[in-house]
Amino acid sequence: MKFFYKILGIVLFAGALLFDPVLTQANETIFYGVPTISKTGIREAVKEEAIASLRVLVQRTRNKDSEQILRMLENGTVVIPTKDGWKAPAFQKEDGIIKIVVLIPTDAQYPLWYALLTDQTAFAYFFPGHHAIVLKQSSDFCQLFRAIAIDHEGWHARYFQKHPESKNASDIQFAMEERDTHEHGNELLSVVGGAPYQAFLESEIKRWEPLITTENSKQHFPSPTWNYNNELEKIFGPAKSQAEKNFRKSFVWADTLFHYIDAHHRGTQAEKEQAKAEALLEAYKKIGMR
Ligand SMILES: [Zn+2]
Repeated sequence: MKFFYKILGIVLFAGALLFDPVLTQANETIFYGVPTISKTGIREAVKEEAIASLRVLVQRTRNKDSEQILRMLENGTVVIPTKDGWKAPAFQKEDGIIKIVVLIPTDAQYPLWYALLTDQTAFAYFFPGHHAIVLKQSSDFCQLFRAIAIDHEGWHARYFQKHPESKNASDIQFAMEERDTHEHGNELLSVVGGAPYQAFLESEIKRWEPLITTENSKQHFPSPTWNYNNELEKIFGPAKSQAEKNFRKSFVWADTLFHYIDAHHRGTQAEKEQAKAEALLEAYKKIGMR
């Protein structure tokens, strides 16, 4: 159970954790209980499709960090989820190769994985301390936001591999790492979204201004659980599900927050960066993630 809570604790930040108990019909059972690592089949296909999405994003943005994340995932190995973890061959334990846990609907039989399979806010997750990423077999995300999600979790995985001590990070250290991850994600959104997205962020900042409150000289920002704005459909293309809309909302919210602080905070750059992490942490606490 400890492991289970660790997963939930690190679930990708999103506006709200909504659990939908209705699963899509399982459409295959070929790896059901097979005690070996699969080389082919549906889990490999999920990995390949996810990586292909990221490859397109790297081509579009030419982002060097995303390119490194892509290489890391291309070299990753698919492992099979089990009741209390996953099956990985012994040689993989310390070799630095990232493990890619691909979840398919039948994995919902395990309570450990049920929560992630039914989480309506994200497509990918990572496990600090295990150099592992979880991908769901899902048609809920368009190619672009599938890539953004994998890139985000890949960033975390790479960071935690370099800084294993971060497993025991304080709340604010955790928020700082999340801030850096979002700063990177914001760069990608800005390249892909171009001028229309910048205009959208400006309009969001205007919407926010009357909603921001100040208490003991500390600002409190609007909630990440805002109503999805259909303008985002024009900018990034149609979202494929409510789950993707939730995901987009959390990312655009973080981008608006950082833009606002960069433009309006009167402190030094270091103080602005601190304010961003504190605002993220406040939001995480509100949704019970920290
Ligand atoms: Zn994150």
